[in-house]
Amino acid sequence: MSHQYTAPRSALIVGAGMAGLATAWYLQEAGVEVTVVDRKGVAAGASWGNAGWLTPSLTVPLAEPSALRLGLRTMFSPSSPLYIPPRADARLAQFLLALTRRCTHRQWQVAMAALSVLNRGVLAAYDELAEGGVAEPTRASDPCLLAFTDEAARRPMVEELEAVRAAGQDVAYELLTGEQAACLEPTLRPDRIAAAVRLHGQRYLNPVAYTTSLADAVRERGGKIVADLEAVNVRDLGGGPGGGVAVRGAEGQELRADAAVLANGAWLGRLAAPFGVRTRVQSGRGYSFTMPAAGLPTTPTYFAAQRVVCTPLDAERVRVAGMMEFTAPDRPADPRRVQAVIEAVRPLLPDADFGRRTEEWAGPRPCTADGLPLIGRTVSPRVHVCGGHGMWGIALGPLSGKLLADGMVSGRYAPELAALHPLR
Ligand SMILES: Cc1cc2nc3c(=O)[nH]c(=O)nc-3n(C[C@H](O)[C@H](O)[C@H](O)COP(=O)(O)OP(=O)(O)OC[C@H]3O[C@@H](n4cnc5c(N)ncnc54)[C@H](O)[C@@H]3O)c2cc1C
Repeated sequence: MSHQYTAPRSALIVGAGMAGLATAWYLQEAGVEVTVVDRKGVAAGASWGNAGWLTPSLTVPLAEPSALRLGLRTMFSPSSPLYIPPRADARLAQFLLALTRRCTHRQWQVAMAALSVLNRGVLAAYDELAEGGVAEPTRASDPCLLAFTDEAARRPMVEELEAVRAAGQDVAYELLTGEQAACLEPTLRPDRIAAAVRLHGQRYLNPVAYTTSLADAVRERGGKIVADLEAVNVRDLGGGPGGGVAVRGAEGQELRADAAVLANGAWLGRLAAPFGVRTRVQSGRGYSFTMPAAGLPTTPTYFAAQRVVCTPLDAERVRVAGMMEFTAPDRPADPRRVQAVIEAVRPLLPDADFGRRTEEWAGPRPCTADGLPLIGRTVSPRVHVCGGHGMWGIALGPLSGKLLADGMVSGRYAPELAALHPLR
């Protein structure tokens, strides 16, 4: 006897970051009633202070051979762009070992093939959100610059772009001299920046404005967003009458629905483990701050060797972001990391007054060792996961939400999700 799949009519989504909000929005498209709960509120995690780049040409796995070279040389130095506290616990050590094992060309290609399929659709998902009423726009990143002190420093990036192209993506770029880069972005001084790459076809957004706007759209369509509710437990109540899921909050409150989506970023592991998810989601904290635009690039610019990004938030303000610190998501921010970001780019941006920075922030990228997100159902047909996007959850969030929502509603998951299965 064949069982007919019953689509959920209601869903509880844990986490009001980009992953959770996008999933909620796409579930609403299919007529599902959604409630999003967050232990704090909208964009209380990584979705707040990130760099907002929607750059499919740069959306590559975390584990890359050059990361390993850089990491081994510098990882215990507080000023390194990749920082690991010297007293790594056993679970972090395990994650780092798994990450290190993936830092080979072959593994990179395998993960890249899975990401490339997604990368081709990420901007279209943003267009769909815009057409569907999300008011905050995404912006064409024109120009989108990658800046280097010399040509040798640029070489690994060019190799990476070629590898992304070889994986089947449409990657359009041109190589610039320092003078050419300065014509496009005068704060890049040719005596400091001698080589650049201009990427075409990329976009960016203001992360706070965008997630707020997406949350507004979810509410306008009848969804609820419940702040200050920390989910401490998710239960599968089975199928049939009286079935579904129950999410219990830290203060004992209980919410019920037909299905649940765990989209709680770097905190995902504890709620997802009882549902068979064994892939560790490790917090890779980044830091950012906001600067007045004077002396800083007012077009999206990545100082790739320094691993620091500058993104205009509006005409007057630029966000400066960087650092990968493998540590617990709720540990107090370490001011030395902000200093490390500043010192990395100060010589390149001599006219910027970093003393005028505001909005210092630290937030956890939800990283997986294989560089791929976790999207799909768990051992329970009622409990789903959308997370683990690491460095690229803003770019990949909307498409991930769309693919997951489609799968939840139809019972059939798109083939591109096979490599991202949460039970892998
Ligand atoms: C410095 C920096 C720069 C970045 N730049 C880019 C970029 O340019 N482009 C890009 O694509 N990506 C970028 N990223 C990565 C991107 O920010 C993340 O991948 C993305 O925001 C993850 O979204 P998320 O919704 O999965 O998690 P989060 O945004 O972290 O959301 C998780 C939410 O879950 C809530 N939560 C946690 N536990 C519970 C619980 N038990 N109950 C209820 N709620 C809970 C949290 O409060 C939080 O709001 C950057 C990240 C950093 C740190």
